[in-house]
Amino acid sequence: MSLNLKIDKEVFEWYYKEWRRQEEGLELIPSENYVSLAILQASGSILTNKYSEGYPFKRYYGGNQFVDQIELLAIERAKKLFNMEHANVQPHSGSTANMAAYFALANFKDKIMGLNLQHGGHLTHGSAVNFSGKLYTFISYGVDLQTHLLDYDEIARIADKEKPKIIVCGYTAYPRQIDFAKFSKIAKECGSYLMVDMAHIAGLIAGEVHPSPSLYADVITSTTHKTLRGPRGAFILSKNQYAQAIDKAVFPGLQGGPLENQIMAKAICFYEAMQPSFKVYAAQIVKNAKALAKALLDLNYDLITGGTDTHLILIDLRSKGLTGKEAQEVLDKAAITTNKNTIPNDPQSPFVTSGLRIGTPAITTRGMKEQEMEQIAHLIDQALKNKNDLVKLEQIKEKVRKLTAEFPIYPNLLN
Ligand SMILES: *Cc1c(COP(=O)(O)O)cnc(C)c1O
Repeated sequence: MSLNLKIDKEVFEWYYKEWRRQEEGLELIPSENYVSLAILQASGSILTNKYSEGYPFKRYYGGNQFVDQIELLAIERAKKLFNMEHANVQPHSGSTANMAAYFALANFKDKIMGLNLQHGGHLTHGSAVNFSGKLYTFISYGVDLQTHLLDYDEIARIADKEKPKIIVCGYTAYPRQIDFAKFSKIAKECGSYLMVDMAHIAGLIAGEVHPSPSLYADVITSTTHKTLRGPRGAFILSKNQYAQAIDKAVFPGLQGGPLENQIMAKAICFYEAMQPSFKVYAAQIVKNAKALAKALLDLNYDLITGGTDTHLILIDLRSKGLTGKEAQEVLDKAAITTNKNTIPNDPQSPFVTSGLRIGTPAITTRGMKEQEMEQIAHLIDQALKNKNDLVKLEQIKEKVRKLTAEFPIYPNLLN
Protein backbone atom coordinates (compact mmCIF):
# COMPACT_ATOMS: atom_id res chain seq x y z
CA MET A 1 0.00 0.00 0.00
CA SER A 2 2.69 2.46 0.99
CA LEU A 3 4.59 2.34 -2.31
CA ASN A 4 1.47 3.15 -4.32
CA LEU A 5 0.56 6.02 -2.07
CA LYS A 6 3.98 7.53 -2.71
CA ILE A 7 2.98 8.10 -6.35
CA ASP A 8 1.02 11.17 -5.24
CA LYS A 9 3.88 12.98 -3.56
CA GLU A 10 1.84 15.95 -2.38
CA VAL A 11 -0.68 13.81 -0.53
CA PHE A 12 1.91 11.36 0.71
CA GLU A 13 4.00 14.04 2.38
CA TRP A 14 1.06 15.02 4.59
CA TYR A 15 -0.04 11.43 5.12
CA TYR A 16 3.43 10.53 6.35
CA LYS A 17 3.32 13.42 8.83
CA GLU A 18 -0.11 12.36 10.04
CA TRP A 19 1.12 8.77 10.55
CA ARG A 20 4.00 10.06 12.65
CA ARG A 21 1.66 12.33 14.61
CA GLN A 22 -0.48 9.31 15.45
CA GLU A 23 2.52 7.15 16.37
CA GLU A 24 4.37 9.78 18.40
CA GLY A 25 1.54 11.59 20.16
CA LEU A 26 -0.69 10.78 23.10
CA GLU A 27 -4.25 10.48 21.80
CA LEU A 28 -6.58 11.38 24.65
CA ILE A 29 -9.70 12.35 22.66
CA PRO A 30 -12.28 9.92 24.08
CA SER A 31 -14.08 9.45 20.74
CA GLU A 32 -10.96 8.25 18.90
CA ASN A 33 -9.22 4.90 18.65
CA TYR A 34 -6.83 2.85 16.49
CA VAL A 35 -8.32 0.07 14.34
CA SER A 36 -6.68 -3.30 13.74
CA LEU A 37 -4.74 -3.90 10.53
CA ALA A 38 -7.58 -6.17 9.35
CA ILE A 39 -10.09 -3.34 9.71
CA LEU A 40 -7.68 -0.90 8.09
CA GLN A 41 -7.32 -3.22 5.10
CA ALA A 42 -11.08 -3.80 4.82
CA SER A 43 -11.62 -0.03 4.76
CA GLY A 44 -9.14 0.26 1.91
CA SER A 45 -10.41 -2.84 0.10
CA ILE A 46 -11.85 -3.43 -3.37
CA LEU A 47 -15.35 -3.23 -1.94
CA THR A 48 -15.01 0.51 -2.47
CA ASN A 49 -15.60 -0.30 -6.16
CA LYS A 50 -19.11 -1.71 -5.73
CA TYR A 51 -22.60 -0.15 -5.94
CA SER A 52 -25.10 -2.00 -3.73
CA GLU A 53 -28.15 0.25 -3.28
CA GLY A 54 -30.79 -1.69 -1.38
CA TYR A 55 -30.29 -4.46 1.16
CA PRO A 56 -28.88 -8.02 0.95
CA PHE A 57 -30.80 -10.04 -1.68
CA LYS A 58 -32.92 -6.97 -2.57
CA ARG A 59 -30.46 -4.80 -4.52
CA TYR A 60 -30.91 -2.34 -7.34
CA TYR A 61 -27.60 -3.40 -8.97
CA GLY A 62 -26.26 -6.71 -10.24
CA GLY A 63 -23.09 -8.41 -9.07
CA ASN A 64 -23.87 -8.26 -5.37
CA GLN A 65 -23.85 -11.99 -4.61
CA PHE A 66 -20.68 -11.77 -2.50
CA VAL A 67 -21.22 -8.30 -1.09
CA ASP A 68 -24.63 -9.54 0.12
CA GLN A 69 -22.93 -12.22 2.20
CA ILE A 70 -20.50 -9.73 3.71
CA GLU A 71 -23.26 -7.28 4.65
CA LEU A 72 -25.32 -10.16 6.05
CA LEU A 73 -22.38 -11.18 8.26
CA ALA A 74 -22.16 -7.62 9.56
CA ILE A 75 -25.91 -7.56 10.29
CA GLU A 76 -25.97 -10.94 12.04
CA ARG A 77 -22.91 -10.14 14.13
CA ALA A 78 -24.27 -6.75 15.20
CA LYS A 79 -27.54 -8.38 16.32
CA LYS A 80 -25.73 -11.10 18.24
CA LEU A 81 -23.15 -8.79 19.83
CA PHE A 82 -25.76 -6.38 21.20
CA ASN A 83 -28.64 -8.83 21.60
CA MET A 84 -31.16 -6.97 19.41
CA GLU A 85 -33.65 -8.27 16.83
CA HIS A 86 -32.78 -6.04 13.89
CA ALA A 87 -29.64 -4.31 12.60
CA ASN A 88 -28.99 -1.83 9.80
CA VAL A 89 -25.26 -1.44 9.17
CA GLN A 90 -25.43 1.12 6.36
CA PRO A 91 -25.40 4.56 8.07
CA HIS A 92 -22.31 6.49 7.03
CA SER A 93 -21.98 8.23 10.39
CA GLY A 94 -23.53 8.57 13.82
CA SER A 95 -25.33 11.71 12.72
CA THR A 96 -27.05 10.01 9.78
CA ALA A 97 -27.93 7.06 12.02
CA ASN A 98 -29.67 9.46 14.41
CA MET A 99 -31.38 11.20 11.51
CA ALA A 100 -32.69 7.85 10.23
CA ALA A 101 -33.94 6.91 13.71
CA TYR A 102 -35.84 10.21 14.04
CA PHE A 103 -37.23 9.81 10.48
CA ALA A 104 -38.45 6.33 11.39
CA LEU A 105 -40.05 7.16 14.73
CA ALA A 106 -41.31 10.73 14.49
CA ASN A 107 -42.80 13.32 12.17
CA PHE A 108 -41.23 16.73 11.57
CA LYS A 109 -42.00 19.20 14.39
CA ASP A 110 -42.75 16.37 16.85
CA LYS A 111 -41.29 16.72 20.32
CA ILE A 112 -38.05 14.86 21.03
CA MET A 113 -36.32 15.02 24.40
CA GLY A 114 -32.53 14.98 24.72
CA LEU A 115 -29.77 16.13 27.05
CA ASN A 116 -28.81 19.80 26.91
CA LEU A 117 -25.76 20.08 24.64
CA GLN A 118 -23.84 22.11 27.18
CA HIS A 119 -24.39 19.31 29.70
CA GLY A 120 -22.99 16.59 27.41
CA GLY A 121 -25.58 15.93 24.68
CA HIS A 122 -24.64 15.59 21.00
CA LEU A 123 -25.28 18.12 18.20
CA THR A 124 -27.90 15.74 16.77
CA HIS A 125 -29.79 15.89 20.08
CA GLY A 126 -31.38 19.22 19.23
CA SER A 127 -28.73 21.84 18.50
CA ALA A 128 -30.25 24.87 16.76
CA VAL A 129 -27.58 24.75 14.03
CA ASN A 130 -28.17 21.02 13.36
CA PHE A 131 -30.94 19.33 11.33
CA SER A 132 -32.31 17.95 14.61
CA GLY A 133 -33.03 21.38 16.06
CA LYS A 134 -34.38 22.67 12.76
CA LEU A 135 -36.75 19.78 11.92
CA TYR A 136 -37.99 18.73 15.35
CA THR A 137 -39.16 20.45 18.52
CA PHE A 138 -36.45 19.56 21.01
CA ILE A 139 -37.08 19.61 24.72
CA SER A 140 -33.91 19.46 26.76
CA TYR A 141 -33.16 17.98 30.12
CA GLY A 142 -30.06 18.74 32.15
CA VAL A 143 -27.85 17.21 34.79
CA ASP A 144 -28.11 18.17 38.47
CA LEU A 145 -26.07 21.36 38.88
CA GLN A 146 -24.58 20.27 42.21
CA THR A 147 -23.63 16.66 41.47
CA HIS A 148 -23.52 16.88 37.63
CA LEU A 149 -25.33 13.52 37.58
CA LEU A 150 -28.47 12.75 35.60
CA ASP A 151 -31.50 13.62 37.74
CA TYR A 152 -34.01 10.92 36.82
CA ASP A 153 -36.84 12.46 38.87
CA GLU A 154 -36.44 15.74 37.02
CA ILE A 155 -36.26 13.90 33.66
CA ALA A 156 -39.48 12.07 34.54
CA ARG A 157 -41.16 15.35 35.49
CA ILE A 158 -40.24 17.01 32.17
CA ALA A 159 -41.22 13.93 30.15
CA ASP A 160 -44.57 13.71 31.90
CA LYS A 161 -45.28 17.39 31.18
CA GLU A 162 -44.12 17.38 27.54
CA LYS A 163 -45.06 13.84 26.44
CA PRO A 164 -42.31 13.69 23.78
CA LYS A 165 -42.52 11.25 20.88
CA ILE A 166 -38.94 10.09 21.55
CA ILE A 167 -36.67 10.27 24.58
CA VAL A 168 -32.97 10.13 23.70
CA CYS A 169 -30.28 9.05 26.13
CA GLY A 170 -26.57 8.48 25.42
CA TYR A 171 -24.04 11.31 25.47
CA THR A 172 -20.71 12.72 24.37
CA ALA A 173 -19.37 14.08 27.63
CA TYR A 174 -21.01 12.24 30.52
CA PRO A 175 -18.47 10.29 32.61
CA ARG A 176 -20.91 8.02 34.48
CA GLN A 177 -23.06 5.00 33.65
CA ILE A 178 -26.57 5.49 32.29
CA ASP A 179 -29.50 3.72 33.98
CA PHE A 180 -31.42 2.44 30.95
CA ALA A 181 -34.06 0.74 33.13
CA LYS A 182 -34.99 4.09 34.66
CA PHE A 183 -35.16 5.73 31.23
CA SER A 184 -37.34 2.88 29.97
CA LYS A 185 -39.77 3.33 32.85
CA ILE A 186 -39.98 7.07 32.20
CA ALA A 187 -40.55 6.52 28.46
CA LYS A 188 -43.23 3.88 29.05
CA GLU A 189 -45.09 6.08 31.51
CA CYS A 190 -45.45 8.91 29.02
CA GLY A 191 -45.90 6.82 25.87
CA SER A 192 -42.54 7.79 24.32
CA TYR A 193 -40.11 5.70 22.32
CA LEU A 194 -36.77 5.17 24.04
CA MET A 195 -33.82 5.76 21.75
CA VAL A 196 -30.35 4.99 23.08
CA ASP A 197 -27.47 6.70 21.26
CA MET A 198 -24.58 4.53 22.51
CA ALA A 199 -21.96 6.02 20.13
CA HIS A 200 -19.47 6.72 22.90
CA ILE A 201 -20.00 3.61 25.00
CA ALA A 202 -20.71 0.85 22.43
CA GLY A 203 -17.33 -0.78 23.13
CA LEU A 204 -17.92 -0.68 26.88
CA ILE A 205 -21.32 -2.33 26.38
CA ALA A 206 -19.90 -4.96 24.00
CA GLY A 207 -17.13 -5.62 26.54
CA GLU A 208 -19.68 -5.84 29.37
CA VAL A 209 -18.28 -3.07 31.52
CA HIS A 210 -21.36 -0.88 31.04
CA PRO A 211 -24.95 -2.21 31.36
CA SER A 212 -26.62 -3.02 28.04
CA PRO A 213 -29.69 -1.14 26.77
CA SER A 214 -30.92 -4.16 24.79
CA LEU A 215 -33.81 -4.99 27.13
CA TYR A 216 -35.00 -1.41 27.30
CA ALA A 217 -34.45 0.46 24.04
CA ASP A 218 -36.85 0.60 21.11
CA VAL A 219 -34.02 1.81 18.89
CA ILE A 220 -30.27 1.97 19.48
CA THR A 221 -27.95 4.06 17.32
CA SER A 222 -24.17 3.91 17.45
CA THR A 223 -20.96 4.81 15.71
CA THR A 224 -18.40 2.06 15.13
CA HIS A 225 -15.26 4.18 15.45
CA LYS A 226 -15.20 5.18 19.13
CA THR A 227 -14.79 2.68 22.01
CA LEU A 228 -15.98 -0.11 19.68
CA ARG A 229 -12.68 0.34 17.78
CA GLY A 230 -14.09 -0.17 14.30
CA PRO A 231 -14.03 1.83 11.06
CA ARG A 232 -15.53 5.31 10.79
CA GLY A 233 -19.25 4.64 10.37
CA ALA A 234 -22.41 3.72 12.23
CA PHE A 235 -25.29 1.27 12.63
CA ILE A 236 -28.81 1.11 14.01
CA LEU A 237 -30.33 -1.68 16.13
CA SER A 238 -34.01 -2.04 16.90
CA LYS A 239 -36.86 -4.29 17.85
CA ASN A 240 -38.35 -6.12 14.86
CA GLN A 241 -41.44 -3.94 14.87
CA TYR A 242 -39.39 -0.90 13.78
CA ALA A 243 -37.15 -2.75 11.31
CA GLN A 244 -38.97 -1.72 8.17
CA ALA A 245 -39.30 1.92 9.16
CA ILE A 246 -35.59 2.10 10.04
CA ASP A 247 -34.44 0.41 6.83
CA LYS A 248 -36.64 2.68 4.70
CA ALA A 249 -35.39 5.76 6.51
CA VAL A 250 -31.73 4.87 5.79
CA PHE A 251 -32.34 3.80 2.16
CA PRO A 252 -33.98 5.28 0.15
CA GLY A 253 -34.81 7.88 2.83
CA LEU A 254 -31.48 9.57 3.19
CA GLN A 255 -28.62 7.60 1.67
CA GLY A 256 -27.86 6.13 -1.73
CA GLY A 257 -25.19 3.49 -2.19
CA PRO A 258 -23.82 2.01 1.04
CA LEU A 259 -20.05 2.03 1.65
CA GLU A 260 -19.54 -1.73 1.45
CA ASN A 261 -15.84 -1.41 2.20
CA GLN A 262 -16.80 0.19 5.52
CA ILE A 263 -19.49 -2.45 6.05
CA MET A 264 -16.88 -5.20 5.60
CA ALA A 265 -14.75 -3.37 8.15
CA LYS A 266 -17.77 -3.17 10.49
CA ALA A 267 -18.27 -6.96 10.14
CA ILE A 268 -14.65 -7.46 11.26
CA CYS A 269 -15.09 -4.94 14.06
CA PHE A 270 -18.10 -6.89 15.43
CA TYR A 271 -16.11 -10.12 15.13
CA GLU A 272 -13.22 -8.63 17.09
CA ALA A 273 -15.60 -7.28 19.74
CA MET A 274 -16.97 -10.82 20.31
CA GLN A 275 -13.56 -12.21 21.23
CA PRO A 276 -12.66 -12.71 24.92
CA SER A 277 -9.72 -10.34 24.44
CA PHE A 278 -12.16 -7.48 23.80
CA LYS A 279 -13.62 -7.87 27.30
CA VAL A 280 -10.11 -7.52 28.68
CA TYR A 281 -9.63 -4.41 26.52
CA ALA A 282 -12.90 -2.80 27.64
CA ALA A 283 -12.16 -3.50 31.30
CA GLN A 284 -8.70 -1.96 30.92
CA ILE A 285 -10.18 1.19 29.32
CA VAL A 286 -12.20 1.75 32.49
CA LYS A 287 -9.34 0.81 34.84
CA ASN A 288 -7.12 3.27 33.00
CA ALA A 289 -9.73 6.04 33.12
CA LYS A 290 -10.15 5.53 36.87
CA ALA A 291 -6.37 5.56 37.37
CA LEU A 292 -5.99 8.70 35.27
CA ALA A 293 -8.85 10.37 37.16
CA LYS A 294 -7.28 9.50 40.51
CA ALA A 295 -3.88 10.82 39.45
CA LEU A 296 -5.48 14.09 38.29
CA LEU A 297 -7.44 14.43 41.55
CA ASP A 298 -4.16 13.90 43.45
CA LEU A 299 -2.75 16.82 41.44
CA ASN A 300 -5.74 18.95 42.57
CA TYR A 301 -7.73 18.98 39.36
CA ASP A 302 -11.51 19.29 39.65
CA LEU A 303 -13.38 16.58 37.76
CA ILE A 304 -17.02 16.82 36.75
CA THR A 305 -18.94 14.27 38.93
CA GLY A 306 -15.70 13.78 40.89
CA GLY A 307 -14.37 11.02 38.65
CA THR A 308 -15.49 8.45 36.11
CA ASP A 309 -16.86 4.96 35.67
CA THR A 310 -16.50 4.95 31.89
CA HIS A 311 -13.74 5.76 29.40
CA LEU A 312 -14.11 9.51 29.78
CA ILE A 313 -13.04 12.29 32.14
CA LEU A 314 -14.23 15.89 32.07
CA ILE A 315 -11.84 18.29 33.81
CA ASP A 316 -13.23 21.56 35.18
CA LEU A 317 -10.31 23.95 34.66
CA ARG A 318 -11.75 27.02 36.38
CA SER A 319 -9.79 26.56 39.59
CA LYS A 320 -6.58 26.38 37.54
CA GLY A 321 -7.26 29.72 35.88
CA LEU A 322 -7.30 28.13 32.41
CA THR A 323 -9.93 27.83 29.70
CA GLY A 324 -10.52 24.64 27.73
CA LYS A 325 -9.26 26.32 24.57
CA GLU A 326 -6.00 27.40 26.23
CA ALA A 327 -5.41 23.97 27.75
CA GLN A 328 -6.06 22.17 24.47
CA GLU A 329 -3.63 24.46 22.65
CA VAL A 330 -0.88 24.12 25.27
CA LEU A 331 -1.20 20.31 25.31
CA ASP A 332 -1.09 20.21 21.49
CA LYS A 333 2.38 21.77 21.74
CA ALA A 334 3.42 18.79 23.87
CA ALA A 335 1.88 16.25 21.44
CA ILE A 336 -0.94 15.47 23.87
CA THR A 337 -4.22 15.60 21.95
CA THR A 338 -7.37 16.47 23.89
CA ASN A 339 -10.47 18.50 23.28
CA LYS A 340 -12.01 21.52 24.95
CA ASN A 341 -15.55 20.88 26.11
CA THR A 342 -18.25 22.81 27.89
CA ILE A 343 -19.00 21.92 31.49
CA PRO A 344 -22.61 22.14 32.80
CA ASN A 345 -23.61 25.84 32.94
CA ASP A 346 -20.28 26.87 31.47
CA PRO A 347 -19.61 30.60 31.88
CA GLN A 348 -17.47 30.50 28.70
CA SER A 349 -18.67 30.20 25.11
CA PRO A 350 -18.68 26.78 23.39
CA PHE A 351 -15.62 27.92 21.41
CA VAL A 352 -13.63 28.76 24.57
CA THR A 353 -15.17 26.53 27.31
CA SER A 354 -14.05 25.83 30.89
CA GLY A 355 -13.61 22.10 30.41
CA LEU A 356 -11.21 19.62 28.90
CA ARG A 357 -12.49 16.21 27.78
CA ILE A 358 -10.04 13.32 27.85
CA GLY A 359 -10.38 9.56 27.59
CA THR A 360 -8.50 6.28 27.49
CA PRO A 361 -9.77 4.15 24.53
CA ALA A 362 -6.86 4.94 22.18
CA ILE A 363 -4.01 4.77 24.69
CA THR A 364 -5.46 1.50 26.04
CA THR A 365 -5.38 0.05 22.52
CA ARG A 366 -1.66 0.90 22.48
CA GLY A 367 -1.24 -1.33 25.55
CA MET A 368 -0.82 1.33 28.21
CA LYS A 369 -1.88 0.48 31.76
CA GLU A 370 -2.38 2.16 35.15
CA GLN A 371 1.31 2.92 35.58
CA GLU A 372 1.37 4.94 32.36
CA MET A 373 -1.80 6.79 33.43
CA GLU A 374 0.07 8.27 36.35
CA GLN A 375 2.87 9.41 34.05
CA ILE A 376 0.35 10.94 31.66
CA ALA A 377 -1.37 12.89 34.45
CA HIS A 378 2.01 14.37 35.38
CA LEU A 379 2.83 15.21 31.76
CA ILE A 380 -0.52 17.03 31.44
CA ASP A 381 0.08 18.87 34.70
CA GLN A 382 3.64 19.85 33.78
CA ALA A 383 2.52 21.15 30.38
CA LEU A 384 -0.32 23.23 31.82
CA LYS A 385 1.95 24.65 34.53
CA ASN A 386 4.51 25.69 31.90
CA LYS A 387 2.04 26.95 29.35
CA ASN A 388 4.22 29.87 28.21
CA ASP A 389 7.58 28.07 28.32
CA LEU A 390 8.21 26.69 24.84
CA VAL A 391 11.46 24.99 25.89
CA LYS A 392 9.68 23.12 28.71
CA LEU A 393 6.83 22.17 26.38
CA GLU A 394 9.34 20.79 23.87
CA GLN A 395 10.95 18.73 26.67
CA ILE A 396 7.54 17.32 27.59
CA LYS A 397 6.90 16.50 23.93
CA GLU A 398 10.19 14.56 23.94
CA LYS A 399 8.99 12.59 26.99
CA VAL A 400 5.75 11.85 25.17
CA ARG A 401 7.75 10.62 22.18
CA LYS A 402 9.76 8.28 24.44
CA LEU A 403 6.64 6.93 26.11
CA THR A 404 4.71 6.35 22.86
CA ALA A 405 7.73 4.67 21.24
CA GLU A 406 7.33 1.86 23.80
CA PHE A 407 3.75 1.30 22.56
CA PRO A 408 3.82 1.37 18.73
CA ILE A 409 0.55 1.26 16.78
CA TYR A 410 1.36 0.61 13.10
CA PRO A 411 5.17 0.60 13.20
CA ASN A 412 5.80 -0.73 9.71
CA LEU A 413 2.88 0.83 7.89
CA LEU A 414 4.82 3.14 5.60
CA ASN A 415 8.17 1.39 5.34
C1 LIG B 1 -20.02 10.80 18.01
C2 LIG B 1 -21.45 10.86 18.32
C3 LIG B 1 -22.42 10.99 17.31
C4 LIG B 1 -22.12 11.32 15.87
O1 LIG B 1 -21.24 10.59 15.19
P1 LIG B 1 -20.58 11.13 13.81
O2 LIG B 1 -20.09 9.87 13.20
O3 LIG B 1 -19.52 12.10 14.20
O4 LIG B 1 -21.67 11.76 13.00
C5 LIG B 1 -23.75 10.95 17.69
N1 LIG B 1 -24.10 10.81 18.97
C6 LIG B 1 -23.21 10.71 19.97
C7 LIG B 1 -23.67 10.54 21.37
C8 LIG B 1 -21.86 10.75 19.68
O5 LIG B 1 -20.97 10.67 20.67
